[in-house]
Amino acid sequence: MVIPTAALPTQRASVQQSSAAGRRSRFASHRTSGFVESVIREMSRLAVQHGAVNLAQGFPDFPAPPSIKQAAIDAIDADINQYSVTWGAKPFRDAIAAKYRNTYGLALDPEREITVTCGSTEAMIATLLATTNPGDEVIVFEPFYENYFPDTQLCGATRKLVTLHPPHWSFDPDELRRAFTSRTKAIIVNTPNNPTGRVFTLEELTIVANLCQEFDCLCITDEIYEHILYDGLQHIPVLSLPGMRDRTVLINSMSKTYSVTGWRVGWTLAAPDLTESIRKVHDFLTVGAASPMQQAGVHALASSPSYYGDLASHYGERRDLIMDILTGSGFSPLRPQGAYYVMADISKFGFPNDRAFAMHMVENIGVSCVPGSSFFETPGVGDQWVRFCFCKKTETLEAARARLAKLAA
Ligand code: GLN
Repeated sequence: MVIPTAALPTQRASVQQSSAAGRRSRFASHRTSGFVESVIREMSRLAVQHGAVNLAQGFPDFPAPPSIKQAAIDAIDADINQYSVTWGAKPFRDAIAAKYRNTYGLALDPEREITVTCGSTEAMIATLLATTNPGDEVIVFEPFYENYFPDTQLCGATRKLVTLHPPHWSFDPDELRRAFTSRTKAIIVNTPNNPTGRVFTLEELTIVANLCQEFDCLCITDEIYEHILYDGLQHIPVLSLPGMRDRTVLINSMSKTYSVTGWRVGWTLAAPDLTESIRKVHDFLTVGAASPMQQAGVHALASSPSYYGDLASHYGERRDLIMDILTGSGFSPLRPQGAYYVMADISKFGFPNDRAFAMHMVENIGVSCVPGSSFFETPGVGDQWVRFCFCKKTETLEAARARLAKLAA
């Protein structure tokens, strides 16, 4: 079902409005209306408030790799503490270029095609601000990572939603084609996907790539779970597909691959003309990402293939563990192919909606999850889903299992 979002109510709701929320300042701009604070981060705060096991916000609760931490400490000690060049320290851009050359055989010019940003979050909003005009259409698969809503909203772009259908979270190619119009500026593709864990196939990505070329639009790819893949699946950057080199903006970051979500170091890869526009926005938004963290990134991105293999296999074990825990606790979870989230159907519990269920979970059961509706815009569709993340220590996941026993009781 393709739904032009202009036809939908744009007000997004938080799970539990904070005291300040709901009262809009008379000074607030129009562009801040229509969305609320992040529900993911709200659920994280509620987890702390209620002492719940936090399976809401996707960040690891185990240490980052010691050598990567040491590289950051060394960089600070070496006084790499001042601004880098706004689009990223040269050694880090070189390291990014080397990684894509070695991993995918992609040749990128660090001088003209790489921009280092404050995480992929900034990379996405900078890219959208740099490429869309108010009224342009941006195609988004639903369910989607919640940031894409405010990102497009802030740009004045109209979202065109294309459904990912459970249980495999696949799209109907005819529905996708119907979403493209002469006003389409871009499509956002997030693979491996948050929140579904879907990894798009070469066939699916080729359909997307062909439509982008037919309708002369941009493909913006969020690839931050690139190395978190299960069951032997391989990641395919759309940028590497025929005809896509000049019309793709690839977004990635250090956050998930190196377990440093708080460092805020990401990047965009795009053809020189696109990069020039992105750099202009990035410069005035943030000046640049933290210099010592970029220096540590030089070390991180030179990690051996075994690092990435171990990352995927450790997360694979946790994926199996959370599936076992959720199934045993009465949920109907859908097995993810990648990333570190699982969508679970809650209809067996008989709650009116996902928000009521998530509040019950955090207040009474002691486990925090994210209400599914925060990943959907179409009213009602996400009401019987919640998302759990499993980028946590085994002990944390086992603590959640113990608490979830109360749910069945
Ligand atoms: N990507 C993470 C998630 O989906 C963190 C979100 C955030 O707080 N930016 O949970």
